[in-house]
Amino acid sequence: MLKVTNPATEEVLDELAVDTPRSIAEKVTKARQAQRSWARLPFERRLETIRRFGQLLAEQRSRLEKTLTSEVGKPITQSANELKGMEPRIDFFLKNTRAVLTEETVLENDDDRLQEIITHEPLGVIANLSAWNYPYYVGSNVFLPALLTGNAVLYKPSEYATLTGQAISKLLRKADVPPDIFIPVIGGGEVGAELVRQPVDGVFFTGSYATGRRVAEMAAGRMIKVQMELGGKDPVYVCDDVDVEKTAAAVADGAFYNTGQSCCAVERIYVHRRIYARFVEAFVQTVRNFILGDPVDPTTYLGPVARPNQLKVLRRQCLEAEAKGATSFRGGQRLPDRGYFFEPRVLTDVNHTMEVMREETFGPVIGIQSVTGDAEAVALMNDTEYGLTAAVYTPERKRAVKILGERNTGTAYWNCCDRVSPRLPWSGRGHSGIGTTLSTYGIQTFLQPKGWHLRE
Ligand code: NAD
Repeated sequence: MLKVTNPATEEVLDELAVDTPRSIAEKVTKARQAQRSWARLPFERRLETIRRFGQLLAEQRSRLEKTLTSEVGKPITQSANELKGMEPRIDFFLKNTRAVLTEETVLENDDDRLQEIITHEPLGVIANLSAWNYPYYVGSNVFLPALLTGNAVLYKPSEYATLTGQAISKLLRKADVPPDIFIPVIGGGEVGAELVRQPVDGVFFTGSYATGRRVAEMAAGRMIKVQMELGGKDPVYVCDDVDVEKTAAAVADGAFYNTGQSCCAVERIYVHRRIYARFVEAFVQTVRNFILGDPVDPTTYLGPVARPNQLKVLRRQCLEAEAKGATSFRGGQRLPDRGYFFEPRVLTDVNHTMEVMREETFGPVIGIQSVTGDAEAVALMNDTEYGLTAAVYTPERKRAVKILGERNTGTAYWNCCDRVSPRLPWSGRGHSGIGTTLSTYGIQTFLQPKGWHLRE
C-alpha cells in the first residue's frame, strides 16, 4: 500500500493499492492493443478529447487546487497558479500539433516521376514517469502531446503526488480518452523501475539526476527513445548597474517560490561586489517578510517541503557551509509544531567548495557569492555539471546576451528567472537531461519521421 501524507500536518490522507509487476505488464499489453486504433482516428477526434480535458480542469479547478496543496504542501495561491497555467499550455498544443503531424512533400514528380514525402508516425506505447513538484506541468508536458500525436501513455505519477495523478486520469477518462490509451500506474520507485523494464517504445522521465541516470541505464541497449528532464543548479548573475531592491525581490521570488522546489528555481546567486552588501541586505529583508505556515491559508508564501528526507539535505548543506565559513541569515519565521517545515536560510560568504553551491538544494536555502566582474561570474556559472537555466540581471541587453551565450544551458533569462513558456523549448544539458518538451520540438519528440520514395 502507498500512504499519502499531508506534509503540512503529517496526517495520512489515503492508502492506495500499488501496481504489481503483473498488473503493469497487463496494462502495457492493453495499451499496445489499443494504440493503433487511437493513432488511426481522425486528428480532430483526439483534439476534441484534449479540448474537453482542458474544460474539465477549468471547471474543477478549486477542488484540484486543494488536493494538490494537501498532498505536496504547495501554498494554495501557487497551486491555483499551476492550475491556471494549464490553460495556455493546452491551448498551445491544441493550436500547434496539427502542423507538426502534417505530411510534407519535399520533391514533386521530377523527370524520374519520383515523389519524396515525409510522414510522422507516433512512437507507440510510452512510459511517462513524473515528478511531484509541478505534477500538472511536468506530467502534461508529456502526456498531452503524446496523446495528440497518437501514442498510448502509461503514466506513473510521483508517489508524492498520486492523488493529483489519479485526478488527472479521471478527467482524461471523462474527456473520452479511451481507458487503454491513458493508463495510470500507481506506486513508488520500484513500480517506476518495473514500468521501464516493460516493452515500451519510449521512456519520458522527469525527476532527479540520480534517478534519471538509473532509468537511462535500464533503458540503454533497447534502442528506444529516452528523454530526461532532470534537476538543476541554476545560477543568477546580478550586475552592478541594476535597481538593487527591485532585483533582490525578484531573485528572492525565483529562489523561494514553491518553497524552493522548482526544477528551474534560482539555486545560486552571484552579485557584483560593488552592490553586494546592499543586495544581501535587501534580499534578506525580502526573505524575512515571506509568510511561512499553513499552505491552505491564501496569505502563505512558504509551505512545508514535500518530502521529510529533504529536510536532512537542507540541514546538511547549511551546516557544511557554516562550518566552512559561510554567514547564515535565518528567515526568523516561527515554524508550526508539525509538518516538514524549514526556516528559510540565506548563506553568504559562500564558495564552490560548499555543497550548497554545487549540488541541487531543492528547498528554501540559497547561497549568495560576491564576484569581481563578468569574467568571474561566467567562470563560476559554468562551474557545474548541470545546464537547465541561467539568468542575468542588468539593464544592458547586449551584456546579458553575451554572458548567457557563454553558458551551456537549454534556457537563458535576461531580467527574469524561474519562468517556463509553452512556446519555447524546455530542455536541459549535461546532468539536467536530454531531449525537449514544450514548443513544437516538444511535439515532434513523440513522433518518428518516415521518408517515402514513391516512383510512378
Ligand atoms: P525522483 O527522481 O525522486 O522521482 C521521479 C520519478 O521517478 C517518480 O515518479 C519516482 O517514483 C520515479 N522513480 C524513483 N526511482 C525510480 C527507479 N529506480 N526507476 C524508475 N522510476 C523511479 O524526483 P522527484 O523528487 O519526484 O522530483 C524532483 C526532481 O525532479 C528534482 O531534481 C527536480 O529538479 C527535477 N525536476 C526536473 C524538471 C525539469 O523539467 N527538468 C521538472 C520538475 C522536476
